[in-house]
Amino acid sequence: MNSQWETVIGLEIHAQLATQSKIFSGASTAYGAEPNTQACAVDLGLPGVLPVLNEEAVHMAVIFGMAIEAHIAPYSVFARKNYFYPDLPKGYQISQMELPIVGVGHLDIDVDGVTKRIGITRAHLEEDAGKSLHANFHGLTGIDLNRAGTPLLEIVSEPDMRSAKEAVAYMRKLHELVRYLGICDGNMQEGSFRCDANVSVRPKGQKEFGIRAEIKNINSFKFVEKAINHEIERQIELIESGGTVVQETRLYDADKDETRSMRSKEEANDYRYFPDPDLLPVLIDEVFKAQIKAQLPELPQAKKQRFKADYNLDDESATILTSSRQLADYFETVVKESGSEARICANWITGDLLAALNKADLDISGSPVSHERLAGLLKRISDDTISGKIGKQVFEELWQGTATADEIIEAKGLKQITDTGAIEAIIDKIIADNPGQVEQYRSGKDKVFGFFVGQVMKEMQGKANPGEVNKMLKDKLK
Ligand code: ADP
Ligand code: MG
Repeated sequence: MNSQWETVIGLEIHAQLATQSKIFSGASTAYGAEPNTQACAVDLGLPGVLPVLNEEAVHMAVIFGMAIEAHIAPYSVFARKNYFYPDLPKGYQISQMELPIVGVGHLDIDVDGVTKRIGITRAHLEEDAGKSLHANFHGLTGIDLNRAGTPLLEIVSEPDMRSAKEAVAYMRKLHELVRYLGICDGNMQEGSFRCDANVSVRPKGQKEFGIRAEIKNINSFKFVEKAINHEIERQIELIESGGTVVQETRLYDADKDETRSMRSKEEANDYRYFPDPDLLPVLIDEVFKAQIKAQLPELPQAKKQRFKADYNLDDESATILTSSRQLADYFETVVKESGSEARICANWITGDLLAALNKADLDISGSPVSHERLAGLLKRISDDTISGKIGKQVFEELWQGTATADEIIEAKGLKQITDTGAIEAIIDKIIADNPGQVEQYRSGKDKVFGFFVGQVMKEMQGKANPGEVNKMLKDKLK
């Protein structure tokens, strides 16, 4: 990319809050129901009904605010954002405008080993709209209002990012955070976590920002990176060929991998915001905040530092193991239950287990190997019942999900042979069968030693304790 240009990016992220019911009604927020079975009179905007604020949504917004060390507004207000669209039956969306619930905060991202602080301007509560369905309606549009009224937290960043890579790192970090906090399930296919990207370019060294375009409707990390890089190129090419960027909303088309104009600023709606007269202002006092603070879980950054300090893990393992709360819990349970060294547990989880999960396209919550069973295996390695190598074989069996490590070891006769008599007999035989190698070893060729170890292990099908074999071989070959 042309290095005379600098990119500026700010993201607006919509996270659906994981409440049971909607933000202003008692209808269910569960995903995937038959269309229009989960929209009640309030969600449909029927006359004569009034919205009632879901306290859980307020809780979740405040939890988020605390996690990004933001100012929590003691007084915030819901406003009507007026526009007409078929999936918005009231003709307005209830949102927050001038007085959002969460004020200025920040989130730290790591890119190429460097930590950078990204400012968060605000986060506000609002309701989601319904969905327009275009497939299967033969020239007509179907409307599903199940999503209408689902609580959203819109998280607006400062224009602090300077590359698509940074934007993706920020989005991932935020995704990890909301899942840690348990306030959003983060399911991007189902639209629980969506992103609008504001992108502009300016000549390097220029202080003022360039004119931005806003790319809507990006629902995967991969697409965010592609869409932004694509937009950067488009803007640079446009300016270099004498044109100017206009402020507009663009839509990313994943199939064609391009962005195209949706509407320009001139065509933009005038939303005529005003405070919603049906809803009281939200008042948050110190008692409410103290209660939430007490329930705040350990955050990813703090957990990572603790893993490094308490378990003596390297940065990479600690990062991987704290990438989700479930994985971190799994690791800590295995350490506790197996009584094995934490680093060994970490190696098994970040190595064998995650590789197998990746291959099967599963995450830790769907692991066929439970923490009890992995701990059961590691216990048998640390008490020398089996070697680490045989452990890999047992792990493959564990993956089938039908037996414990002890059952597998028993059924397959994998127990390490510690009977020194049996090992000795085999060593004697191998020494007798290989006089040439014995000669070489005794004349100083230490490398041949590995040959003997290999032969013994082969003869014993890997079940001899390697430490024991080494010791006895050394004695015998003297
Ligand atoms: P609007 O009111 O049009 O939504 P905002 O001021 O709320 O505009 O900004 C929306 C987002 O755009 C924020 O994330 C902000 O950081 C980002 N942004 C603002 N100006 C620029 C710019 N020149 N280039 C890139 N991003 C920008
Ligand atoms: Mg905005």
